[in-house]
Amino acid sequence: MIHDVRRAATIAIGNELIEGCHSDTNSGEIAARLAELGIEVAQFTVLGDDRDRLVRAFRELTAEFQLVIATGGLGPTLDDITREAAAEAAGVALEMDPAALAHLRELWAQRGRPMPKTNERQAWIPATAQSMENSAGTAPGFRLWIDGGVLAVLPGPPREMRAMLEGALLPWVRATCGVGPATCVRSLYLCGLPESQFADDVGPWMARGENPRVDVTAKSGVLSVRVVGRMASQEEATAITEARLNELAKRFERHVFSCEDPRLEVALVRALGERQWRISFAESCTGGGMAQRLTDVSGSSAVFRESWVTYANESKQLRLGVPAALLEAHGAVSREVAEAMAVGALRESGADLALSVTGIAGPDGGTPAKPVGLVWFGVAERDRVRSEERRFLQHGRESIRAFAVHAGLELAWRTVRGQPWPKR
Ligand code: AMP
Ligand code: MG
Repeated sequence: MIHDVRRAATIAIGNELIEGCHSDTNSGEIAARLAELGIEVAQFTVLGDDRDRLVRAFRELTAEFQLVIATGGLGPTLDDITREAAAEAAGVALEMDPAALAHLRELWAQRGRPMPKTNERQAWIPATAQSMENSAGTAPGFRLWIDGGVLAVLPGPPREMRAMLEGALLPWVRATCGVGPATCVRSLYLCGLPESQFADDVGPWMARGENPRVDVTAKSGVLSVRVVGRMASQEEATAITEARLNELAKRFERHVFSCEDPRLEVALVRALGERQWRISFAESCTGGGMAQRLTDVSGSSAVFRESWVTYANESKQLRLGVPAALLEAHGAVSREVAEAMAVGALRESGADLALSVTGIAGPDGGTPAKPVGLVWFGVAERDRVRSEERRFLQHGRESIRAFAVHAGLELAWRTVRGQPWPKR
């Protein structure tokens, strides 16, 4: 029994991780799941398959933290040495685990092949360790006491790591670790609001030491807000967390698009479905990015039939009926052309809503009057057409296109929901 675990550490193991071939995603996932149990991961460590360094890290981290979770280096080949290093750190030998060996044999039998001798290595675990079954792969994991703490070792491949974390390690942590207070975590996803504005409007709720605590992170136009409440019982933790969540949802009503999914396109498909509307796009500088995001969502076929990527001026004329005179007088990146593209897409598709985008993604093609980053959007509904100009920071073509896709999806979502467009 470990008493009152509050802080833990992770170690991601593999030469590929420190050679820049692959990034460590396991540690973040583990930290997020532990946070839900009220355990804070205070440190991530990333190490190559280096036996001496691993032995040292296992000893040092288990001396400081009661729970240390390592992933990787459990493969059958000789370059994977996590199990040897763990045994050495605990001062015990490796022993064959009969259940793990039987599991390995069974997996090979299912494939109708004899098991290579090399794979037997995977059934060896430190003598004093308790093995954890791998339901998604071959190598078993294990838990091992080293001085004051427990070292838990999970496989490196994220799918196997996840299966063992959920199936074996977290249930053990819940049952034996006497974790801290009960914790409830809830999320809200917002668009059309800068992070700093959110922080200003939230005020003291984001202060350190506040319970529930409110965290916010911004990515590609979406604010992800997490509310974390800690109380003696799960009921109380849930109650204070949900109360704060509801207050936030009310205060930021015009910006909240989901409590479950950070993808704006999912909210858009849902909103279109509720109104039984179909949408169409006329895209220039985003090259089909909006249609791509919308059709990433399963169920989008109910709200989307077709759209256009009209990159050249001739295509804007030919496919969407944008008058040549308009293109000549105002240029392709203009309010007039954006509106004409949206109206054309609405007419040609028979949709209820059409969204157009035309802009200068760069790096070439900007002028003082129309700089790189200038993007016009048109939104046509059956009885009206509106437009909006945005000027995105010149952080490269990819960034401008990504922000344009996001901004377009947001305009569409606001239009379907009958929400005011954000003031710029
Ligand atoms: P291993 O257990 O060392 O054989 O891991 C095999 C594979 O799992 C590696 O090649 C990576 O693709 C993946 N992997 C290992 N560690 C991590 C990690 N920390 N985060 C994400 N993927 C990982
Ligand atoms: Mg490896």
